[in-house]
Amino acid sequence: MERIAICPGSFDPITNGHLDIISRSSRIFDKLYVVVLNNESKHPLFTVEERLELIREVTKKYPNVEADVYSGLLADYAREVGATANIRGLRAVSDFEYEMQITSMNRLLNHDLETFFIMTRNQYSFLSSSIVKEVAKYGADISELVPGVVEKALKEKYSDNK
Ligand code: ADP
Repeated sequence: MERIAICPGSFDPITNGHLDIISRSSRIFDKLYVVVLNNESKHPLFTVEERLELIREVTKKYPNVEADVYSGLLADYAREVGATANIRGLRAVSDFEYEMQITSMNRLLNHDLETFFIMTRNQYSFLSSSIVKEVAKYGADISELVPGVVEKALKEKYSDNK
């Protein structure tokens, strides 16, 4: 049986922290869908298409990883692609409460979906898309935090917005 996993998030934009989780889980599962959950209430900086394109670009070295987008419930998406594993990254204790909540909800909505947590590498434990955007806005060096294409995309975004 093929072991199919999903790795959901906003990915606005994808960071080295996300990539670390993606590359590590791609070694464990046969197929990994990195899925952008389209949540307009979060007021994203990048459009869904831009986020997908960046994910595709930086994951193309992993043949079993596919980028996708979904506007409904994660539990339904998992059913559609036949996934039995939901991968989430854990940074700090502060992530825990929220993750407990959505894990319980997802379990209720889809009994066949098991959530797995991967602990971030220490160097990425402070890293989030929001913090990267915050510092990129002021022209800080983010080359250690995101892949080159993402750094370029952020620079373009902020020069457009000026
Ligand atoms: P969400 O809106 O679901 O929090 P994110 O794009 O912020 O979406 O995160 C998607 C997933 O990646 C989550 O499981 C999150 O915990 C994980 N993640 C984000 N940043 C990091 C990081 N620096 N290290 C490990 N996991 C991370």
